[in-house]
Amino acid sequence: MQKILILGGGFGGLATANELRANLPDASITIIDKKDYFMMDLVKLWIIKGVRTFEHSKKPLQNITRKGIDYVNEAVVGIDLVGKKVKTTTKEFSYDYLVVALGVEFAPEKISGLPENGFVLYDLEHGPKIRQKILEMKSGKLGFVITGMPYKCPPAPFEAALIIDSMLKEQNVRDKIEIDFYSPAPITLPAAGPEVSQQLLQMLLYLHTKHQKSCTNQV
Ligand SMILES: Cc1cc2nc3c(=O)[nH]c(=O)nc-3n(C[C@H](O)[C@H](O)[C@H](O)COP(=O)(O)OP(=O)(O)OC[C@H]3O[C@@H](n4cnc5c(N)ncnc54)[C@H](O)[C@@H]3O)c2cc1C
Repeated sequence: MQKILILGGGFGGLATANELRANLPDASITIIDKKDYFMMDLVKLWIIKGVRTFEHSKKPLQNITRKGIDYVNEAVVGIDLVGKKVKTTTKEFSYDYLVVALGVEFAPEKISGLPENGFVLYDLEHGPKIRQKILEMKSGKLGFVITGMPYKCPPAPFEAALIIDSMLKEQNVRDKIEIDFYSPAPITLPAAGPEVSQQLLQMLLYLHTKHQKSCTNQV
């Protein structure tokens, strides 16, 4: 029996496992993940908006075993490509085929001042903190910063900006808060091409113009 090891039970790892299970009924398939749950990352934006909670959105990775896919809840600490072995915190696994789907690691400490002064939109633990901060904001400036390319989920910062814009409007403080966007990309959303980028830019500029107009009206 062929042994397939999949490192990471996120979007990539789970999709691969399901596809392989459907096409290779006799192979042994094992997912290794340090987390014991799966949650779609887009839920992080809904947590900021306050329409979903983490507790109600995560699914146990153990559920995958119902499909005949093994799951090991351990951190991967080493890969031996020559010996075809993977080392986890307390175990070792041999494999015939290896899929690496470990996602990305965040490194906010590489941006000077960010850990002390800002939040990481993609960090699950920061979601409720961002929400709290937005609910407390009465005036000031809010900056969205894309710090480098490529990055995970290109539209997410723009979605977050639009969600937060709507939250501030609901709190009747949008007029007193400026939202600025900083990105190193030559167009708004390179992955979607120039046309969609232009449409998205117009949406953001529309928000900006509306904000400026209502400020002027107040003056
Ligand atoms: C806010 C936000 C919104 C998004 N919205 C969308 C959307 O609407 N549509 C869309 O298609 N995509 C969206 N994405 C992007 C999508 O979530 C990612 O592209 C996707 O999760 C990447 O899949 P992955 O398998 O590479 O990594 P991940 O899904 O991050 O999975 C990696 C897995 O590896 C595990 N892991 C890491 N290191 C180790 C280790 N050493 N040992 C064991 N396990 C480990 C992790 O625990 C994790 O479960 C969004 C992302 C964010 C942050």
